[in-house]
Amino acid sequence: MDDLNKNKKGHLHPMTQMINEINSIFSDMGFEFADGPEMESEYYNFDALNFEKNHPARDMQDTFWVKDKENTVMRTHTSNVQIRYMENNKPPIRIIVPGKVFRNEATDATHEAQFYQFEGLMVDETTTLGTLKGVLKTFLEKFFSKDVEIRLRPSYFPFVEPGIEVDMSCFSCEGKGCSICKSTGWIEVLGAGMVHPNVLKAGGIDSEKYQGFAFGVGIDRLAMLKYGIDDVRLLYQGDLRFVNQF
Ligand SMILES: [Zn+2]
Repeated sequence: MDDLNKNKKGHLHPMTQMINEINSIFSDMGFEFADGPEMESEYYNFDALNFEKNHPARDMQDTFWVKDKENTVMRTHTSNVQIRYMENNKPPIRIIVPGKVFRNEATDATHEAQFYQFEGLMVDETTTLGTLKGVLKTFLEKFFSKDVEIRLRPSYFPFVEPGIEVDMSCFSCEGKGCSICKSTGWIEVLGAGMVHPNVLKAGGIDSEKYQGFAFGVGIDRLAMLKYGIDDVRLLYQGDLRFVNQF
């Protein structure tokens, strides 16, 4: 009888559990939850984020354009919320934005046309890359329940300057080399950078006085790493044999 009742009880989907866990870790660091539209104007998805008109980066993201609605896209990242939030709030700003994003690409074991991302944004007078590094290290250590090292590598995203890729030391082999880190000891986890002055301006924030960082992480990727899932599609098929393992 007990067993029967237990089997009938529902539980949160692993993605929801993961989003709740991420929110909770960032909430402990003073970040607030923020939210925005999934169907978005080209302005908030690209223009205000310093993507030049006709810049290849707009195609790079394999955008879904909405039929019969001019200049409207399914958002390609959660960064649209950066601008919307800055328009309505003054620094200091600390937000975390989990949500669905859309890319028009073929699906395979590591790519879905719709997936979950979370965005972080912090803006005040003294935010630096050092602050960013500390916040991300704290997050990753809590999330993977392991001490980790963080490595920053230069990269390019239109909305940040400088842009960086963030690697963490492998939580599985602790740097010795294994299949998860492809024997390098490091795992690429996210993209980040200092918010570009043009983006602050678009948000109505004085870029002389304030600075900030932003980062974006694939929640699917974190889930795959944390639970050793090798096919991202499992997260979205609603197969109870899979979902009930969490
Ligand atoms: Zn490893």
